[in-house]
Amino acid sequence: MKIICIGRNYSEHAKEMKAEVPTEPVFFMKPDTSILKDGNDFYFPDFTKDLHFECELVVKIDKNGKNISEIFSHKYYSKFSLGIDFTARDLQAECKAKGLPWEKAKAFEHSAPISNVWIDKSEFQDQIDFDFFQNGQLKQKGNSKDMLFSIDQIISYVSKYMTLKTGDLIYTGTPAGVGPVRIGDTLKGVLNGREMFTFKIK
Ligand code: MG
Repeated sequence: MKIICIGRNYSEHAKEMKAEVPTEPVFFMKPDTSILKDGNDFYFPDFTKDLHFECELVVKIDKNGKNISEIFSHKYYSKFSLGIDFTARDLQAECKAKGLPWEKAKAFEHSAPISNVWIDKSEFQDQIDFDFFQNGQLKQKGNSKDMLFSIDQIISYVSKYMTLKTGDLIYTGTPAGVGPVRIGDTLKGVLNGREMFTFKIK
């Protein structure tokens, strides 16, 4: 199983990162060891002083495919969940400045918390809403209609480069509002009004 993450998929987030709004999807990967299932605490790693939350809508691939045309992308997924793309922002800034890959800032142990709940896409109308709370305070508000690249476009694009397999996850990018987490924080994600995960930073 692999985890594909989309970067800068909301223009307001690209702006807050002082990054250019991309003209084609930007993606990177995390290993399966990045997964942290809801109900488990996250332990703040000692290699960063600036760990950021990025709450993201997650899509699960449920059929193998490559070179998928956008019009057929919808046949390759049926469920959504909510997760966090934890980012060691200080390490990422160093990697970016040196023109190096981002893996140590993005792909570390438990850097991809995810809800245990999967919601069938038939439950949604044409847009998907999500909210992220840090210690009860609303920090991020996302809506799939604000994505620069739709899920169907992302699946088509990524599958040009690599085969998508059943069970693969796509983290579809984060809206504006990212920020640092601290030991003692409680993080909560809500998808279309339904609580999806709550866990603590230890
Ligand atoms: Mg992200």
